[in-house]
Amino acid sequence: MLKILKGIKSIFVHIRSSLKFIFLIIIATVLIVGMISLVYRPMYSVTLDGEFIGYTTNKSKLQKRINEYLENGDGNIAFIDVEKLPEYSLCLLKKDNQTNDDEIFEKIKNSGTTYYEYYAILEKSKEKYYVSTKKDAEDVINKLKEKKSTNINDLAYSQIHSTELKEFKDTDSIITALYEKPKVVIASAYATYSGERIVSNATPSAQVLGIGLIKPVSGIITSRFGIRSSGSHKGLDIATSTGTTVAAAASGTVTFSGWDTYGLGNCIKISHGNGVTTVYGHCSKLYVTSGQKVSAGEAIAAVGSTGNSTGPHLHLEIRVNGVAQNPQLYLYK
Ligand SMILES: [Zn+2]
Repeated sequence: MLKILKGIKSIFVHIRSSLKFIFLIIIATVLIVGMISLVYRPMYSVTLDGEFIGYTTNKSKLQKRINEYLENGDGNIAFIDVEKLPEYSLCLLKKDNQTNDDEIFEKIKNSGTTYYEYYAILEKSKEKYYVSTKKDAEDVINKLKEKKSTNINDLAYSQIHSTELKEFKDTDSIITALYEKPKVVIASAYATYSGERIVSNATPSAQVLGIGLIKPVSGIITSRFGIRSSGSHKGLDIATSTGTTVAAAASGTVTFSGWDTYGLGNCIKISHGNGVTTVYGHCSKLYVTSGQKVSAGEAIAAVGSTGNSTGPHLHLEIRVNGVAQNPQLYLYK
C-alpha cells in the first residue's frame, strides 16, 4: 500500500516539473515573438522576371491595381501588354524596410508594351492629323461638313491602336488646314427666269429720298445691320430657301450683276436714282444683267448661299450716296 502511494507521489512531482518546464517555454516564446515583432514585420518581396522590384505589405490591393490598369488603361492608354506578372514571396523583414507600392506599379507599367488609343483624321485614306478623343475627330469632320469644304468626301476619321503615341493637334488648326473653299462657277449663276416677270405687287412700305421700297423676299431675319467682331455688317440677312425669287426693291438700272469678290457671292446692284442703291448678295441665280432696266417687284435673282455664307439667305443693302444704311429703318421693321 505504501509503495503504491509513493509511486503516485513521484508521478505528481514529475508532472509538476514538466508543467513548469512547459510554462517556461511558453513565456520564452511570447517574449521572443514580442521582441521580433518590435523589430520585424511580415512583408512581400516582389520580383518581376526574377528581378527584385520592391516590398509591399498589401499584396492583393497592389495586384488589383495592376490588373485594373493593365486591362483598362488610362486616358490615351488603351491597355498594356506584359509578358510576366510579378511574383510575391512572404518574408519577415526589419520594420525600417520601406514598402513602395507606387514604384512597383511604375516598374510593372514600364516593363510592358503600352498600346495607345487615339484618332486619326484621314484625307484620301491617309493619316494626316491626330486627336485624342472620338469627339474631337467627329467635331473636325462635322465642322468641315458645315463649312461645305469641297474635299469632305475624301475626309474621314479612324480609331488607332498603336504602341506609338503621335502628337495631337487642336481641332481648330486641323479644320483650317483641311478646309477647301467651295469653288463657284460664276457663269452658271446666270439663268433665264421662266415665270411671271413681276413677282411682287406690294406697295412701297417706306421712302428713301423719294424712292419707295418693297421687301425683295419674305423670310426670317438672321443677322441685323451693325458692328460685328469680324467687322461691320453692312446689310440685313433674310433667310429663306434656296431658289426663292428675289424681287427688285424699286425700279432702276442694274449697275452690277456677277460675282462679288468681297464675299457677297453672286450679287446684283441696282441704282434707283437720287443716290439710292440696293444690293442683293449670296444669290444662287442671276436673272438680270448689268445695264438692264428693272421695275419694282421684278424677278432679278434667286436666293442662295454663294460667297461668304453659311446658309441660304438674301443679304440686302440699302445705300445712300454710297453709304450703307440700316435697312430696318425702312423695311422688315
Ligand atoms: Zn449679310
